[in-house]
Amino acid sequence: MSSANVIEIFSSVQGEGKYIGCRQVFVRLADCNLHCDYCDTDFKRADFCKIETAAGSMTFRDVKNPLTAAQVAEIIKSFCAEVPTQAVSFTGGEPLIHWQFVRDVAEAIKILGVKIFLETNGTLSDELLRTFDAVDIISMDIKLGQNLLSLHEKFLHVAKGKDLYVKVVVTGETMLEEFLSAVEMVAGVDENILLIVQPVTPVKNVRMVSAAKILSLQAAALSKIKNVRVIPQAHKLISIL
Ligand code: SF4
Repeated sequence: MSSANVIEIFSSVQGEGKYIGCRQVFVRLADCNLHCDYCDTDFKRADFCKIETAAGSMTFRDVKNPLTAAQVAEIIKSFCAEVPTQAVSFTGGEPLIHWQFVRDVAEAIKILGVKIFLETNGTLSDELLRTFDAVDIISMDIKLGQNLLSLHEKFLHVAKGKDLYVKVVVTGETMLEEFLSAVEMVAGVDENILLIVQPVTPVKNVRMVSAAKILSLQAAALSKIKNVRVIPQAHKLISIL
C-alpha cells in the first residue's frame, strides 16, 4: 500500500465553494506544482503530520511522516465514527501529485459510504485520469496570471463527468480581460459548469477586491456561464480550520 507526506488531518466544515458549510474530514497532503502569490497554505513536507486528537477538537498530536494509506484510513474512520461526515476532502498543496495514495485511501474507506472530495489546482489531467473512478466531487481552481488556461481546459474535459465546480480567486489586481478569458474557456467546455467567484482573503501583499468589482466580474461571467456564484472563504470569518 502507498504512503505520502501528510501535513494535517482534521474534521471541520468546508469553507469554500458549492459545499460550503458541509462537515468533512480534511487530509492535507504535502507538495504543490504551482507557486501562487496569494497562497496561504503550508504545503512543505514535514517530519511529522498533525492529527486532530478528536474530531473538531482543534488540538493536535504529531505522527511521523510518511503515513501509509492504511494509517490514514483508520484515522478517517475514527473521525467519522465520532461525527457524521459528509465527505473526505483531499487537499493540499496539490493532492493529485499523490494520486495513488488518494486512490488507496478512498478504496480503504469505501465501507463508510462518504463522498470523496478532491480540491485541486486543475493542472494535472493525467493524474486525474488515473484516480478518476475513486473521486466523487471535484473542486477545481482556475489560477489567473500564470498562463495555465490550456492545462485547465484539458483538465476540465476530463473532470466534467463528475460533480464538478470551478473556483476563481479574484483580487484587487484581477484584470477583466484575463478573468473573461478564463470564463470563455470554461463556457467552451460546458456553459453549465458552476463557476464560483471567490474574493481573496487578504494575505501578504495581496489587495482585497472591491464590492463594485466583484459585482462587475460576476455580471461579465453570467453573460457566458449559466450559474455563477460569489462566495468568500467562510472558515476564515469564523476562525475555524
Ligand atoms: S495551487 Fe494552491 S496550494 Fe499550490 S501554490 Fe497555488 S494556492 Fe498554494
